[in-house]
Amino acid sequence: MKKIPPFVWNDQERTFIKYNLISMGFKDLLSYRYSEYWINKYHDYFLIYPKKCTRCGSNKKIQLHHLTYEHLGNEKSKDLIPLCKQCHLWVHKEGWRIRNEFLSLF
Ligand SMILES: [Zn+2]
Ligand SMILES: [Zn+2]
Repeated sequence: MKKIPPFVWNDQERTFIKYNLISMGFKDLLSYRYSEYWINKYHDYFLIYPKKCTRCGSNKKIQLHHLTYEHLGNEKSKDLIPLCKQCHLWVHKEGWRIRNEFLSLF
């Protein structure tokens, strides 16, 4: 099990994310996640990177986690890491922001 610190948004990031989603025509992160753009992004990512959880190594129910929302709507590969559903929930449940050194995990 790889150590991946939990991720939380601060108020500034929430405002940034909300503003950007609205300007792209989405009402929230969920509608973004189900958008054609994101579905294509997801498939394109796994043409290059293994479909495997960065934290536990599972290959089931893999989701793409944002290390940063800085490029929301135009995410770079390094902005994202694959996590299984369970690890993804864990990462979002608790404390601090994921750190840059974990970018080197893939
Ligand atoms: Zn996992
Ligand atoms: Zn996430």
